[in-house]
Amino acid sequence: MTDTRDLDRRFVFHPFSMAQGHEQSGALMMAQSAEGCWITDDSGKRHLDSMAGLWCVNVGYGRERIADALADQARKLSYFHGFSSMATEPAAILAERVIAKAPDGFSKVFFGASGSDANDTQAKIVWYYNNARGLPNKKKIIARDRGYHGVTVLSGGLTGLPGLHAGFDLPLPMIRHVSAPHNIWTRNAEEDDAAFSARLAQELEDLILAEGPDTVAAFIAEPVMGAGGVIVPPEGYFAAMQAVLDRYDVLLIADEVICGFGRLGTWFGSERMGMKPDLMSVAKGITSGYAPLSGVLVGDKVWQVISGEGSAKYGAFGHGYTYTAHPVMAAAALANLDIVEEENLVERAGQMGDYLNDALAKAFADLPIVAETRGKGLMAAVEFARPTRDGWQKFDPGLQVAPRIVRAALQDGVISRALPNGDAVSFSPPFTVTAEEIDLVVSTVRKAAGAVCDALRADDAL
Ligand code: PMP
Repeated sequence: MTDTRDLDRRFVFHPFSMAQGHEQSGALMMAQSAEGCWITDDSGKRHLDSMAGLWCVNVGYGRERIADALADQARKLSYFHGFSSMATEPAAILAERVIAKAPDGFSKVFFGASGSDANDTQAKIVWYYNNARGLPNKKKIIARDRGYHGVTVLSGGLTGLPGLHAGFDLPLPMIRHVSAPHNIWTRNAEEDDAAFSARLAQELEDLILAEGPDTVAAFIAEPVMGAGGVIVPPEGYFAAMQAVLDRYDVLLIADEVICGFGRLGTWFGSERMGMKPDLMSVAKGITSGYAPLSGVLVGDKVWQVISGEGSAKYGAFGHGYTYTAHPVMAAAALANLDIVEEENLVERAGQMGDYLNDALAKAFADLPIVAETRGKGLMAAVEFARPTRDGWQKFDPGLQVAPRIVRAALQDGVISRALPNGDAVSFSPPFTVTAEEIDLVVSTVRKAAGAVCDALRADDAL
């Protein structure tokens, strides 16, 4: 029998993995099948997936209905494209359905296959918009430290995580970053939400003024930051930031790749977090990961320029992917949205999110290396740091605090995730997760964190 672990070790170039380490040690886990929130590996061991894959399997694994939709559509029309005014039915029905859920003022969807390509499309739309308006210098895009917007040449630079720039000559020159609204590492001790928001909005304004408002095109932000640490902004943050953007004619792009389609307990994270975006990126939850599909939702203000001055100046919109509006992916999305609606999973995400956040706060309150438990809806994280007389201090990255906790929990059958850039462990389970499953996740990771805390103390690293 072929040893698939050996094939993987020898031939697969793994994303976000140590190249040599993987070649030597092979896969940490080889997933073989899955049902609900549970993944079975090649040894038959079951793992409770508290991350819904990578924040995406919102309706849970093993949904026959989506599998059938994929197969039926592949049999009927396996592929056709949308270039040059060609069309397919599933994409048309899906676009209408997505716009119906979106906040007022959105009128069009441009489909792609990943969150990264959606954000690249965003940059091109924003540049095209300003070129069409006769503002060719207005091109810079401001993102945030710790924001995650993808890994392509453009979106990788928008991502504010140094590990995703190192070795790749990123970010591209038209990208800037401002601070993340991080309670532990950015907020001053004396600041309440209003003062913290006002200071971050002032930082944004100072940057726009320093760069020159006529050179700044857009600001991109996740409603709640995901991979950068599940960072929930303070009350009033987006209103304060938005006032600055409006003052200088800067577009707001909401990166809804994680939050979109229910994870915060509302259809879009923008609703819950008080954002009024001009453009939105979606992916992950639109198909619950059963098929690769993304979308750029375009608001009326931008669409009017694209279809007006843009068309007049440049002719056909010269952008699109082979798989833009892929009918099989759209069919998967339609079946997925049927499930989300029929099972009231958006409301459920809100309720189970409250349960998860309460459970984490209670279970981790007594552990001295916990700087914060935080979250919104079904996105949550625990931040680990060293307590000192002067406040929290980051652990030496060499100590690998969060990765050790995640590995120990994996041994005990729970999948969580250590986030890059610090020591946070995150959770983002399927919306179908039960209270019992959340209890198991929390107690398993708490036990792992307790053991790592003891080991740090034994090594005089505390
Ligand atoms: N934006 C956000 C907010 C994300 O979380 C991600 C993926 N984690 C992306 C963009 C990039 O999506 P993809 O990996 O599908 O390219």
